[in-house]
Amino acid sequence: MLLQWTVMACLNRLGFLKTFQGLKHAHGFISNGQSLAFGVSCFALTPCFTFLKGVFHKAAKTNLTLNYRCFCTMTADRPCWNCGSSTELFFCSSCKVIQPPHNNINYFQLLNCEEKFSLDTQNLQKRYVELQRYLHPDNFGQKSLKEQEYSETQSGLVNKAYRTLQKPLSRAIYMLELRGVLLEEGTDACADPAILLEVMEVNENLAETQNQDEVDAIGQSVRDKLKDLAEQMTSSLNKGDLLTAKALLVQMKYLSNIEEKVKKRITESW
Ligand SMILES: [Zn+2]
Repeated sequence: MLLQWTVMACLNRLGFLKTFQGLKHAHGFISNGQSLAFGVSCFALTPCFTFLKGVFHKAAKTNLTLNYRCFCTMTADRPCWNCGSSTELFFCSSCKVIQPPHNNINYFQLLNCEEKFSLDTQNLQKRYVELQRYLHPDNFGQKSLKEQEYSETQSGLVNKAYRTLQKPLSRAIYMLELRGVLLEEGTDACADPAILLEVMEVNENLAETQNQDEVDAIGQSVRDKLKDLAEQMTSSLNKGDLLTAKALLVQMKYLSNIEEKVKKRITESW
């Protein structure tokens, strides 16, 4: 009975009972040292857990997570440059010294958020602020040159990851890049002519009008369209329909461009 409960608890912890598919994206499924220790103690109970351990190990290699309060995270597959102990994503689990950036993790993993287009940007911002509180070079002024250098690179990387994931357009470009789809320069060639024409008209209307209400109306219309595109993008990426996702991305790019122009016009009118 105890064994059964333990297996169930382990599976539940790993999110298996919620969704098997979730394994691929479950960056946050073990969020602290306690659950990791719990998981590891479960594995030690019986050889029957070999399968689970294998799956866990695979997930651990690709899904490095971080507890921002104490940095008790899953271990990364590299030793600490300072003491040789196992390391977490940013710091050594033993001597607590900052580590160089990890080469094999993406921005979602770096910021410990689920890899999906419709991510919670408020949560993203919260994680970004928490991370920078620990990684910012200002904290390393009294440390060795090596630690200062690692703090700069880690902090810079977290900045870049945050900036990329924060906005829907750059997030979509990045997600497609992760899937091997690049948005070439001069995307006009692959855009739908009807959409190009529509974009041209909106651009002309915006350039010609001096009426603030009309500018606001154009802005609202563009935001509505971008919202609709974001929903379609989520659906396409979930389905793995990269061709559609790329076409949507082109539209997002044009509309985001108009949205920026509208914002500029509104700022200028103040
Ligand atoms: Zn160390």
